[in-house]
Parts: sequence; structure tokens; C-alpha cells
Amino acid sequence: MYSRTWTKKSTKDCSKELERLQKALREADAVVVGAGAGLSAAAGFSYSGARFEAYFSDFAAKYGFHDMYMGGFYPYETPEEYWAYWSRYIFINRYMDAPKPVYDELLQLVSGKDYFVITTNVDHCFQKAGFDKKRLFYTQGDYGLFQCSEPCCQETFDNETVVREMVGCQKNMKIPTELVPVCPHCGRPMTMNLRCDDTFVQDEGWRKAAERYEKFLRTRKDQRIIFLELGVGYNTPVIIKYPFWRMTERNPKAVYASINLGEAITMQEIETQSVLLDMDIGEALRQLTR
Ligand SMILES: [Zn+2]
Repeated sequence: MYSRTWTKKSTKDCSKELERLQKALREADAVVVGAGAGLSAAAGFSYSGARFEAYFSDFAAKYGFHDMYMGGFYPYETPEEYWAYWSRYIFINRYMDAPKPVYDELLQLVSGKDYFVITTNVDHCFQKAGFDKKRLFYTQGDYGLFQCSEPCCQETFDNETVVREMVGCQKNMKIPTELVPVCPHCGRPMTMNLRCDDTFVQDEGWRKAAERYEKFLRTRKDQRIIFLELGVGYNTPVIIKYPFWRMTERNPKAVYASINLGEAITMQEIETQSVLLDMDIGEALRQLTR
């Protein structure tokens, strides 16, 4: 299906598309939200610019980074410096609240409905906004969890206390050596529970969420279901975008809706079932919840 024609609608008339989506939401039996990086960006989680400068100007000066991603890839010489960087990164992107209430507006939109969320975001914004944890599958991990780097066990460890300590105690871009996190079982270095390679730990919570998501889709496959895709790009389209297209194609009662500034597309086969909103997600949600 990936070689089929993609189509993009005219961006002139978002109000008609908003009305179509509003109607579809009213009539829907179930809503599946698929969220990517664009949703957190709309919530103000910018990884560059003022937000980067405010927290990483010392790293920027020393290494010449321009955004948080670049800093995240740098091979720091010592674990003390590595964790000075990453503890700040985790703290501001996982433990601080999003600057704009976009997730709250989304919750308002789906509350009272039969919904489920699948997300590639690892910033915990859904949980912080109060989404039902049993209706949430965060496929790529969570900045708020550590795992063994080996890994010697299929376990994850909450990192809030130690991350706050690392942020508070660091000096000259280094954390104290005694705060460098190690696996309680084998003593190897800890790492973030993020899907980067095949060492990603899928703990009990992850596996249960995956099962719930699969069950939700299976038990509602013939219903009037909306696949509401928010800010999903092309880094990992096989997790949300392509499955949403495929499931929409299989169910004539399904609606595929994409809200994505500059990247709202669908494939030709489901064009009539598609609502495409080429606009800011926050603005779209405000209008939809009005
Ligand atoms: Zn271990």
C-alpha cells in the first residue's frame, strides 16, 4: 500500500473540514487517537530556540549544539557529563508541564467517548493531562523510566527522584559520581527506556498496554470509528499512520482524520473517508471543543 498515490486536500477551507470532523465525532462509536511529535510541539515542547537556550546555553557554548536532539546524540566523555545533559533534558521534557493546554483540550474532546490513544511520544503528556492510563499505549517508551543498558532484566525503574537530584546537584556540567545510575541487579549503567534499538525493555506495563490496544481495535473493527491522527510525521509511519490508513480502508464506516500543519495527507483509496486539516493542532482542538 505504501506505493499508492498520496493525496493532499486544498488548505483553503479548513472550516468545512472542521465541521465534517465535528459531525464525525458526534456520530462516532469510538475514537482512536494516534499522536506523534507534532502534538507535543503544538503544546509548546520546542527542542530548539528560546527553550533550548534557557536550559542548555552552557552545552551550546562548549559543543556548538543548536537544539536538544543534537545534544542528545553527542558522545560525552564521562557519565557525569552525559547525565548532566540528560537529567536536564528529562526534567524539562518529562517532569515540567507543557507550556500550552493542548493535551487538556484533547482530553476534553474525547472525554465521555469510547477512546483509546496510541502515541510515539515519550514525554508523558497524556498521563499528566489526566487521560485514563488503561486507554493509553505509549509504544516507544518513557523518558521517566530507566532500564538496564544490557538489559539483564525486563524491568523499568521510575527515575523522577534521581533525575531531580541530578539537576539540583550538578556543577560545571557534571553530576556527582555517586548519582550516576546503575542497574540494581547487575551494576551496569542504566539508560533511558526508549526504543532506539533491540535493547528496548518492554516491561509488564508496556505489554499490557499493547494487549489493550489490540483488543480495543479488534472489538470495534466494524463500528463507526474515527482514527484521529495528530502531528504524526514520517519517522515511524508504520506505527500509527499506515495502520490507520489500512484500518480505515477495511471499514467503510470508519473516518480517518489528520490534523497536521503542512503534512496532512491521506491515500487515494480512502479520500472520501478522510478529513484533512492542515492547521495548528492547538487551534483545531480549540475550535472543535468550542
Ligand atoms: Zn542489569
